[in-house]
Amino acid sequence: MIDVTVLGGVREYGRNCFLVTDQATNTRIMLDCGVRNGNPEVYPVITEEIAQSMQAVFISHIHNDHIGALPLLAEKGFQGDVWMSETSLQQMQNIIPKWQTTSLDALRFRSFDKHTRGKLITLSENLSFIWGYSGHMLGSVWYSLYINERSIFFSGDIALSSPLLVTDTPAMLSYDVALIDSGHAAQTMPYEKSIHNILSILKDPSESYLIPITISGKACDLLFLLFHALPDRNFVIDHGLMEHLQCYLKNPDNIRKEKINELDALMQSERVTIYEGKKEMGIYLLLDKAAGFHEIKTAVYQDEKSPFYKSHPDRKDLKELVRTIDAKKYIFFHSERNDLNIILDGLRSVNYILDNLIQ
Ligand SMILES: [Zn+2]
Ligand SMILES: [Zn+2]
Repeated sequence: MIDVTVLGGVREYGRNCFLVTDQATNTRIMLDCGVRNGNPEVYPVITEEIAQSMQAVFISHIHNDHIGALPLLAEKGFQGDVWMSETSLQQMQNIIPKWQTTSLDALRFRSFDKHTRGKLITLSENLSFIWGYSGHMLGSVWYSLYINERSIFFSGDIALSSPLLVTDTPAMLSYDVALIDSGHAAQTMPYEKSIHNILSILKDPSESYLIPITISGKACDLLFLLFHALPDRNFVIDHGLMEHLQCYLKNPDNIRKEKINELDALMQSERVTIYEGKKEMGIYLLLDKAAGFHEIKTAVYQDEKSPFYKSHPDRKDLKELVRTIDAKKYIFFHSERNDLNIILDGLRSVNYILDNLIQ
């Protein structure tokens, strides 16, 4: 029997870290290894016994709430492979040097070739997997894992219909256990409605507006959608966002084919410039907050008129995921305790796991 232990990420937003054990074959793997962001960061419950008994870690994407505990895992004595997509590994090169630990050398970062997308990769007699793009950020993936004839689906953070990023549908849709991102499933907010709400705030062409961002699929989506919805306005973006968009064009297999030319045109456009500290009329997408702007908070949902833009499945998306991905047991992660209660009420007929939480 396969056993999933939640080391973090259920009944909380962040710290995603799940341990999967098959005792019959002594197979043990970890799905993501993140921290809960904040000051201080909160770590998952990783002991030496756990770290030293695992063969591999599978990383869904390179946000800190999915990778931030890798240094801790190394310190606790893990010596196996850390798997991720090629595009994630490229982006890790900017992150690894910032980690202050000497144990990292023990981690073997491995990536699977782009051409293996949707194909079975066998790591050992008892462990194989298939991966596909999850549409949440550049390089983000879901996994179908097979351990000793049991099957597990791990969505990672997933977006079903990003305007730019590809989301693959798994070929196999029936599992023993499915771990599914329910991050925004306490509300329903289609992208079109978000953009409508944001546009209703961006009314004054003589005003300067700030949309605070992180490097994510969401920031790229917002720039792309607003750029096309407002053809007479200028956009000033963070240098880091422009660099990230250049990575988009270098990884066209991860991007919706029909959008590549439009994205290229956006990046060449004189309407999009890099922020250099000056404030003029326009719409700013920046990593760090700058003063004096009319700020638009796209991360906070208050009601259906909020300028909220989802970066996780909303209620409708989650229902769709549960309908397509059939599992004997589900674990819903990336939701705060109160949100999870609302979500589970809405999915009453679904069989979900809430034990096995080490918090
Ligand atoms: Zn993420
Ligand atoms: Zn996340």
